[in-house]
Amino acid sequence: MAKQQSFADKATKAAQMKGAKCSTCGAIYQPILMVSSEWSTVKSTWKFNERRVQVCKCNEKQVYA
Ligand SMILES: [Zn+2]
Repeated sequence: MAKQQSFADKATKAAQMKGAKCSTCGAIYQPILMVSSEWSTVKSTWKFNERRVQVCKCNEKQVYA
């Protein structure tokens, strides 16, 4: 039983480490991948920029707008 408990402890700690918490709203940040496209006049093709964004309740409206 002791082993099981320590395993659960580790799992909980790992989960906490993974998701950074926002100090403003207290929600766990959701990492999302934002893709923005940009027309390259030089190559005459679309250029895609990938950006990782941490989303919480404070900025979700701006991110998903
Ligand atoms: Zn927040």
